[in-house]
Order: sequence, then C-alpha cells, then structure tokens
Amino acid sequence: MTTKRRLRLSFPNELRWLYLSAPLVIVVLVFLTEARDARPAARATRLAMGTTVTITALHHGERQAGRAIEAAFAEIERIEAALSIYRDSSEVNRLMRSRSIEAGPDLLTVVRAAQLYHDLSGGAFDITVEPVLEVYDRAFDRRERPPAAAEIDSARSLVGFERLSLSGNTITLAEGTRIDLGGIAKGYIIDRAVETLRRRGIRNGLVNAGGDIRAFGRNNGEPWRIALQNPRDPSDYLAVIEVADRSVTTSGDYERYFDPDREYHHIIDPRTGRSATALMSVTIIAPRAMEADALATSVFVLGPRDGLELVERLEGIEALLITREREIILSPGMGDFIRGRIRTWSAGPER
Ligand code: AMP
Ligand code: MG
Repeated sequence: MTTKRRLRLSFPNELRWLYLSAPLVIVVLVFLTEARDARPAARATRLAMGTTVTITALHHGERQAGRAIEAAFAEIERIEAALSIYRDSSEVNRLMRSRSIEAGPDLLTVVRAAQLYHDLSGGAFDITVEPVLEVYDRAFDRRERPPAAAEIDSARSLVGFERLSLSGNTITLAEGTRIDLGGIAKGYIIDRAVETLRRRGIRNGLVNAGGDIRAFGRNNGEPWRIALQNPRDPSDYLAVIEVADRSVTTSGDYERYFDPDREYHHIIDPRTGRSATALMSVTIIAPRAMEADALATSVFVLGPRDGLELVERLEGIEALLITREREIILSPGMGDFIRGRIRTWSAGPER
C-alpha cells in the first residue's frame, strides 16, 4: 500500500481515515493492574495531526479526567491549526505567504527547536527541506514515478536553514523558502497536551499520536509498556519497551512512502535531496516528545554510524535502530528500557 504524504492532514471522509490509519507505527499495550485501589483509566481517541490520537488519564475522578482529556484535545486542535502546512489559514502558511511575520509562541518555540536540532545534527534535520518533498509529491501524484534529477536539484537550491532568520519574535524566510514542521511539531503538540492534562490534576497518563508517545507518571505503580512494531509486518512486534515519564517516538520508512520498495519515502536527506535509505526505523527515548520526535527524524537521516554518535553525545537520550539489512542496533543505555528479549526477525520476504 502506498500512502502519499499530501494526504496527511486532510480527511474529507472517514474512509480515508481508515486507509491512512492502517500503518500505525506502534501499538501501546496498557496493562492496568488489578489491585482494588487501582486508578480507573479514562480514555478517548480522536483524529488529529493526520493520525489517531489516544489520550489515557489514570485518575479517581472520572469527570475531572474526562474534562482534562477534552482540554488536551482542544489544545492539540488549537496548535495544529497554527502549525500545519495542510491548513490554509495556519500561521505557518501565513509566514510562507508574507515571508516575514511576528510569530506566536508555539511557532517560535518549534522553529527555535528546529534550529537547535538542525545544528546538533549537522544539517540532517532541516525544516526547509519542504520544496524537495513537494517535488516528490508532484512527480508521484501526476506521473507515478520519481522526479528527474534536475527537478530535485532545482528544489534543493531553495533548501538551507540560513534562508530562515529569527530576530526577536520575527521569522523571515528568503524568497522561495518553504518550511514543513512535520518532523517535530507532533512531538511539541504531544508535550503541550501532557502539560494541559497535568495542569488539570492528572498525574499519570499517556498521549499516543499514531505511535509517537509520551507517558507521564506510572501505570498504577508500574512502568508503561510499549510494543515496538516490526517495520515490515504491522501484526508483529519486535520488543517491549518499558518507560515511566518518558517519550518514545519512531521514525520509519514504512509510515508514508511513494513506491513499494520504499526507495522514495517522506524523510529526505537535505544533503542529497533523496530519501534516506540506510535505516528502516529509528526509535528514540527522550524525556520530552519534541526532542524524541526531532531526534528520530535526525537519526533516520544520519544513518546508523553518525546517528548513534549523535545519540551518545546527548544526555538522557537512547535509541533503537533497525537497518535495511534488518540489523537491530541499540545505544549503550537502551537495553535498560527493554523488557525481555528482542525478538529476532528473519523469516519472510524482506519487504
Ligand atoms: P517523522 O515521522 O517525525 O520522522 O517526520 C517526517 C516528516 O518530517 C516528513 O513527513 C516531513 O514533513 C518532514 N521531514 C522530512 N525530511 C526532513 C528532514 N530532513 N528534516 C526535517 N524534517 C523533515
Ligand atoms: Mg520526527
């Protein structure tokens, strides 16, 4: 099944949602303890950010939990409306139309963080890569084949973080520069949703946006358990990760791709203008979802050697990488978060 990137944030009908939500990255197993004083779970699932978002709140007051979840979804909707390039009236589209705006706090925070991860990753993470993604979208939409090298090169001439400038609250883009916050905004929005839940008195819970997860507190005294999906078989999982107060985010070539071999998918190496193909998936554990999100995309682009080197340089970050050769590589502290064995995965065709 080929899922096109452009479909991400527009859902004219429910059928499309079902189609898009099929390749969810991670399945969360929430095992509630049976103890008599176990907190009941309030839970709701909605469509947002081009995926299904489930919010779980463990709390004795059912109504308070329900209201907190409502407030968290309202916060998600509010920020998505500002940051999505798929909404005409979003703040980010207004910036691209007028080239320079006084940005609000959400856009400013995300763009500043994007700059940080750009620098940390030596340019592998770059929100100005959007014109290249558009070239792929157009080529596969109209001609169902990859773009010509000349088209990619001409789009690449518009890419570069130096084409974006930040001064106080003002963001300015050079002529032709476009930005796409898809590699980082979801994490930011998850963090804001968690803040909203906490402000309303929820101490333990979990926000799962299509496999990008932030768990806070504990699952009735236990850590939260998250099953890591096999990147080539959604019905299978490779490992169970246990976390408390952590985010777990996965970037993979199987989320959105243009061709069955996944040579052309939605994560672009800005240095080449091509999809990054050394890895199948990168799972990052980090305290906050925004850093996990940005780092998963960064490490995916950097590949196993440079990606691991980046993870090892950063405090409190762990990673699990799966290469195209199906090799599973862990950062030095990752093993502490894995419950039981990592399942080997050799049977069946590669793709
Ligand atoms: P994720 O699923 O978090 O890895 O994000 C992938 C999304 O990030 C893509 O759909 C694009 O919107 C955007 N993107 C693609 N390549 C890059 C890159 N090199 N740096 C930053 N964002 C990117
Ligand atoms: Mg990301």
